[in-house]
Amino acid sequence: MPRRRSPRSPKVVHRTARAGLRVTRGQRRRLLGLLVSAGDVWACVLELNTWRRARQDRPLVSYQELCQELAASGPGTFGELDSQGARSVLRRYSDAWFAAAQRRRSDDGTARFPRRRRALMPLRWYHGTFTLAGRRLRIPVARGRPPLWVRLDRELPYPPEQVRSVTLLYDAGRLWVDVTAEVPVACYPAGQEPDPGRLAGVDLGIIHPYAVAGPEGEGLLVSGRAVRAEHRMHLADTKGRRKAVARRAPKPGQKGSRRWRHYRRRQRLAEARHRRRVSQAQHEAAKAVITWAVDRRVGTLAVGDPRGVLKLDAGRRHNQRTRDWRIGHLIAVLKDKAEVAGVSVQLVDERGTSSTCPACRSRIPKPPGRVLACPACQFTGHRDLTAAASIAARAGGGITPVLLAGVTHRRAGAHLPGVAPSRRDPRRRAHHRGARGSPGRHRPAPASPT
Ligand SMILES: [Zn+2]
Repeated sequence: MPRRRSPRSPKVVHRTARAGLRVTRGQRRRLLGLLVSAGDVWACVLELNTWRRARQDRPLVSYQELCQELAASGPGTFGELDSQGARSVLRRYSDAWFAAAQRRRSDDGTARFPRRRRALMPLRWYHGTFTLAGRRLRIPVARGRPPLWVRLDRELPYPPEQVRSVTLLYDAGRLWVDVTAEVPVACYPAGQEPDPGRLAGVDLGIIHPYAVAGPEGEGLLVSGRAVRAEHRMHLADTKGRRKAVARRAPKPGQKGSRRWRHYRRRQRLAEARHRRRVSQAQHEAAKAVITWAVDRRVGTLAVGDPRGVLKLDAGRRHNQRTRDWRIGHLIAVLKDKAEVAGVSVQLVDERGTSSTCPACRSRIPKPPGRVLACPACQFTGHRDLTAAASIAARAGGGITPVLLAGVTHRRAGAHLPGVAPSRRDPRRRAHHRGARGSPGRHRPAPASPT
């Protein structure tokens, strides 16, 4: 819920960053207790409205009414949870209910009112209720309880005075906080701000998440090979794990063993780590594009939107590839970063841009490599950059597709394991027989001859 600001104050956008928590065992127990109490608040509201429906009363859904009901329950009902935290659950319920009602009014039969209980519910606290001092965060608790200070596992990307809210949540076996801040839109000295008339075309791809063709024949290629390798390693790893435990898998309806539960937990952690790695690499790639655009005063990015063709079934392997691509996320992170930098993003239909010669407009069969050569005329060029130039031309860019001024190369996912030679990917097998990346498990020393 953004606060009201005067219209003359500088423009801001809201951005959220996630940080893990470093906690002791006792702190972890208290934080989980708070999330369980939040789940209790949620369950109470569901229960209350079930009773009211049985009595044919109107449901209690407005935030104010729910807050009155909470105040009537008195202090100490929900363990260590303070009233601000409990109200954030009520706010969540009320928002979800009204959103569903809105969708039902516009004839969306699939919209459901909130009805499912959850063991752990995220909690949000707004500015003024929590304290953030460097990496330390004080989480509010009910009056009379000892203070709860926890440590974040990384520096936040925002100065503390911009932070507006923190959200405590539990995801894939770990405790996290989402920190939301008001980030001011970038201001530039006169003459250096991005010019909306300068346009660059962006082609989205798998090998190159972003290929950008800008004015004056300049180009940018962001390589996504590290991300693709991460997808492959993850798929191979998942298959390997499944094969190893297939014999022990419980039958449907049968209760799994403790060992099986441990396997499921490890698999969930691996999934979550994979998602974080890919997401981080895509953020880095988008950052490279925006930095490049701002340096060249490009004020408009025309992005070719391929989502129209993704609904077609293209076979098992290619379907997996297009799902891994996470195209919606690629577009979303680019839009988010462009907004902060004061660059506008415009979606363009990209159909045919990668298979049409930009010089003579004839159709070209898809080349197997990265070089596009037209059989009708003498044009050759980089396949993705040519597509980007065609997208820019479609948005009114009028860019010559022949790139003269040079291409900048950037890599996405420099942090991924296996990219730097010093950090071997533990999922990858050693190249040579007997060569090991680590000394491995401790083995007993050979028996001494006596
Ligand atoms: Zn041609």
